[in-house]
Amino acid sequence: MLCDVRLFNSLTREIEEVVPVDGKTVKIYSCGPTVYRYIHIGNMRSFMLGDLIRRALRFEGHDVRWIMNITDVGHMTDELTDTGRDKMELAESDEGLSAAEIADKYTKAFLEDSDLVGIERADLYPLATEHIPEMIAIIDTLIEKGHAYEVEGTVYYDVTTFPGYGKLSGNTLDRLRAGHRQELAVDPSKRHPEDFALWKVAGPHRALKWPSPWGDGYPGWHIECSAMSMKHLGERFDVHTGGNDNKFPHHEDEIAQSEGAVGHRVTSIWVHGGFLQMGGQKMAKSAQNIKRVTDLAEQGVDPLAYRLLCFGTRYRSEMDFSWEALEAADSRVKQLRKRMADWAPAAGSIGAGAKGFDRRFRSAVAGDLDMPTAVKVANELVSAPDVPDGEKYALLATWDQVLGLDLERDARERWEPTDEITALVAERDTARAARDFAKGDEIRDRLQAMGLEVMDTPEGTRVRPR
Ligand code: AMP
Ligand code: ZN
Repeated sequence: MLCDVRLFNSLTREIEEVVPVDGKTVKIYSCGPTVYRYIHIGNMRSFMLGDLIRRALRFEGHDVRWIMNITDVGHMTDELTDTGRDKMELAESDEGLSAAEIADKYTKAFLEDSDLVGIERADLYPLATEHIPEMIAIIDTLIEKGHAYEVEGTVYYDVTTFPGYGKLSGNTLDRLRAGHRQELAVDPSKRHPEDFALWKVAGPHRALKWPSPWGDGYPGWHIECSAMSMKHLGERFDVHTGGNDNKFPHHEDEIAQSEGAVGHRVTSIWVHGGFLQMGGQKMAKSAQNIKRVTDLAEQGVDPLAYRLLCFGTRYRSEMDFSWEALEAADSRVKQLRKRMADWAPAAGSIGAGAKGFDRRFRSAVAGDLDMPTAVKVANELVSAPDVPDGEKYALLATWDQVLGLDLERDARERWEPTDEITALVAERDTARAARDFAKGDEIRDRLQAMGLEVMDTPEGTRVRPR
């Protein structure tokens, strides 16, 4: 490990080193999409944050387990008052599909869009609807411990029983009370207006519902993340990510639930990403200013260029989207790939001159993901007169583990097999045609040992650099 990876912890408001609590694997939980509509590039900026943290940690030699939940129940149209309609049910009536069909459709689209922007798949994408028993168990414990109470089939969290309430967002009870929006109708069943629902009684028209000790109902949005994070990562884990708007109420309530249930700190470092704006306004469906990843591709822009664009702004800051800046990022990525292809034949190991660049790049990434500086170092390397081309290639190819810009794409495409490789490929095809599979496998192993990927296609053996 060369650098200690440090992140700004929204809870302590300090930059802290990531040290896995189990001494082995860094465990990361990211709040994922609510799958009732296509996600936009603003959502994507938040999801890319989890991926970037994983990449940065792996780059420094950590073992990482990353999970991202899929919200397919319980996220209401008004999060602050916990009222309105369940977003999944709303989409059901809009689209004439069942909730499960909607969840399937948009989860698939979300994963495809994530692939396009170079998010490497998480280790697990747990679904809220598949964790109802775990949620019920936590709610049960909270009732037992006096943190929650039931009123006619709905269970509320009594926020006055959790002294740390507000520690993440700053929305402590006294502040919440002082700032109460008078116009809001307060649910008369709650003991305090700040209490929030853990479980809700199903009304007569509610289709998405489950049996529970309190009757048929469905979970609140926040409880799913307590249940899934602790089930899959344990009662202590290292990093939790989300967009800035998730701090309150979502993550504040998650802390009250998880810590209330287990009696100790659960997440070490909370990381929140700034919003993407468009024309000075948050990108949001309600603002009608959303763009999908596929819209970028339709404009002829490589979606990976969106990564480079995002690297231009620190992750905690808000960022303004513009087509001009995206197109400039797109040209830059394409130009870098061409340079890499020119340098590829000389590719060699990293020498003394390049090592200084490597140190600077690594310390930028490890220092709370300072990607603007990392990109600046990369740009300096590209035009450094005293670093040999082969070293530039080797270094950028390594850094691409973090950048994820597919910088070797052109080099791969421009690659030509040597006479020896061509002869081996022909020999293998002849052997396989004669059903001599042992020889075919032996030649495949030799080609692989030469650093090649070997594919069996209907036209015979195909090889390319790995
Ligand atoms: P949702 O599907 O609404 O639950 O949102 C998914 C994630 O996207 C959450 O972590 C939000 O914080 C995040 N998010 C929503 N809008 C934006 C935006 N304009 N910029 C960055 N992140 C966003
Ligand atoms: Zn969450």
